[in-house]
Amino acid sequence: MSRDVELQCRCGKVHGWLRDASPGGVNRAICYCSDCQAFLHHLGRADLLDEHGGSDIVQVAPSSISFDRGSELIAAVRLTPKGLYRWYASCCKTPLGNTVKPQLPFVGIVTALFQHAPGARPCDEVFGPSRGAVYGQFAIGEPPPGSTKPNVRLLAGMIWKFLGWKLGGKAWPHPFFDRASGNPKHPVTVLSRAERDALRPLCGPRPASA
Ligand SMILES: [Zn+2]
Ligand SMILES: [Zn+2]
Repeated sequence: MSRDVELQCRCGKVHGWLRDASPGGVNRAICYCSDCQAFLHHLGRADLLDEHGGSDIVQVAPSSISFDRGSELIAAVRLTPKGLYRWYASCCKTPLGNTVKPQLPFVGIVTALFQHAPGARPCDEVFGPSRGAVYGQFAIGEPPPGSTKPNVRLLAGMIWKFLGWKLGGKAWPHPFFDRASGNPKHPVTVLSRAERDALRPLCGPRPASA
């Protein structure tokens, strides 16, 4: 069963929709990588990390996501000059989605974005349970089972989905990039080396603050 799911930043100024969501139409996994941890610390939203520093992420097709309110508040940060574009709502620092360039068509969304709307359904119901965990070597404390080795099944599922979205015409319209120019539609900042390094002690596997 697929359904349209409301998405909303914590303060409600940025609002949109994920169309035709279903467990079979997305990839859901927990990412423990140090970059995902650093991003949420940078936003001041470490509250969205699980106890091991994991981010609960669903990957969806770009054309399935649209914003109908507050798009002027959308911005992105890149942890390094070539790093992922990590989009967020500047009003309340809610992460909106991680992307690379639109040639690789996917948006990886921290599932909290779907929990702020009134009447939100549990993520397990909408997306199905997480299919695995990756980059457990950066997890805080004991890495979750199976998370430290490359997850071939998960990776194959991702590539299969990305290919399907590309061939199925779901790469455009993209919520964060302009189709004609291929450029970001919203402001993007890149962290300096010093800013990136300052986040490292906060992240796994051994955060200095713990
Ligand atoms: Zn907000
Ligand atoms: Zn990650």
